[in-house]
Amino acid sequence: MSNHPVVIIGAGMGGLTAAIRLARGGIAVQVVEARSVPGGLAAPVSFAGRSFDAGPYILLDRPGLTWAFEQLGLELASLVDLRPIEHPYEVTSAEGVVAIHREVERTADGFERRWPGSAKPYHRFVAEMTRIHARLQPLLHVSRPGLGALIACGGWRHIRFLRRSLGEVLRASRLPGPVIQALGIWTHVAGQTLNLAPSPMAFVPALIHGPGAWYPVGGIGAVVEVLVRALERLGVSIRFSTRVSAIRTVQGAVSGVELADGGFIAAERVLSDVHGVGTYCDLVPAITPRVKHRLAALPLQSPGVCIYLTGRVRAAMSSAPYLRFQLPDDHGLCRLLVQPSVVVPENENVVGMRLIAPMRHAEAQAMGAVGQQAFAERLIAEPWWRAHVDDAQVLHVRTPSEWGATCHLHRDSMNPVMTAAFMRAGRLAHRSPYVDGLHLAGSSTHPGQWLSFCAMSGILAADEVLK
Ligand SMILES: Cc1cc2nc3c(=O)[nH]c(=O)nc-3n(C[C@H](O)[C@H](O)[C@H](O)COP(=O)(O)OP(=O)(O)OC[C@H]3O[C@@H](n4cnc5c(N)ncnc54)[C@H](O)[C@@H]3O)c2cc1C
Repeated sequence: MSNHPVVIIGAGMGGLTAAIRLARGGIAVQVVEARSVPGGLAAPVSFAGRSFDAGPYILLDRPGLTWAFEQLGLELASLVDLRPIEHPYEVTSAEGVVAIHREVERTADGFERRWPGSAKPYHRFVAEMTRIHARLQPLLHVSRPGLGALIACGGWRHIRFLRRSLGEVLRASRLPGPVIQALGIWTHVAGQTLNLAPSPMAFVPALIHGPGAWYPVGGIGAVVEVLVRALERLGVSIRFSTRVSAIRTVQGAVSGVELADGGFIAAERVLSDVHGVGTYCDLVPAITPRVKHRLAALPLQSPGVCIYLTGRVRAAMSSAPYLRFQLPDDHGLCRLLVQPSVVVPENENVVGMRLIAPMRHAEAQAMGAVGQQAFAERLIAEPWWRAHVDDAQVLHVRTPSEWGATCHLHRDSMNPVMTAAFMRAGRLAHRSPYVDGLHLAGSSTHPGQWLSFCAMSGILAADEVLK
């Protein structure tokens, strides 16, 4: 490897873990970040003197994040004060309320009371998903899991499962419709249908009832903070407020990055934590129009609308769910009220909360900034969440347009939606097949948008560089 540093574009979860991994491997790295803060979508924000998680609200894959930390020589449990979420979520629709608790028995008993005969299939479903997840989990730690990796971990037994959609897997469980809706609620966040979503999303109940769902004291930004400190200890500083405008190539190989301020950093290896499609379509002029066209056709995931507010939680904390999902009568996408004080109690009466509404990317784009703001206003006026909150005060509204501008998102999207088809097609590769010396991290290279996946993606991308 040459004396030039490996340039890492973006200090999101993927960029940070990649930088630590490379620095620990003795490689010189230069992290350039367009924003003035680290963490990307997972960076905290502050309004009226109160700190909020800007985006993420739950850790559903503690084993994955633990693995990623271990690869960096860090111990998640001792560095981040994680609290288990006893009552992770409730989904309310015209058909009633479905409550998901940490304990499988309590959850199944609730189903049984409402839909007699449903406890047994739920136990069976969770046990089966737990078994399949355990077998397939090692595939998350491989850059491009192919047949060899499937055979090595015994995952070949579940090829049929992997070929199905989430909808097919959930329907085969024979659980009541509203329970299926509640288990598949995470597809709303990606703006996709059960039939387009990949089957591994059915692991969520197995994770909640197994390793548990978690929330860190200090918010999800606490995870970012630990990574930034680890990077500093390795002597690596992040060059903030430095936007890369292009990845320069010579004869199909990376030669450096051009900066928006006119500067240039020579490099033979570039690792991009920027949106996968955005990296190719916006930053690499050398990519052929055919490839750009194919990538641009991938459906994108919108960050949706996020409303940061304060108020008093009406229910007793012990009985309130952390996340209250509401399904509208018109079968549109859900909304959710996020109440961190249910997990990490605050001393004050008035606490921070968030109201989130996923949006389909195409619809959000068609609405534009003004339409998105109007959508947020309608959300604020909805009565369902006010039934749980007294003295609500809206501090800030973040629309997809603002997400895009603040976090430098390609077409105001987080990344391509992880559909079943995209996952089966192998996602985007950590090692670029188009440009020598270009590597990708981030959720377009791993099975989804979760922080754990983004953290793992950085490690696998860095390992490709080290190879
Ligand atoms: C509303 C919302 C809710 C979410 N909920 C959850 C959840 O509950 N649980 C969960 O696990 N995950 C959740 N996520 C997803 C998670 O936050 C993201 O998937 C993850 O943080 C993305 O990390 P990343 O490293 O892939 O990319 P990013 O965070 O997008 O980081 C990319 C970085 O690159 C920088 N950058 C971009 N372009 C350039 C450029 N040209 N030059 C220099 N720097 C550049 C950006 O500023 C950014 O800092 C949520 C996200 C949102 C928005």
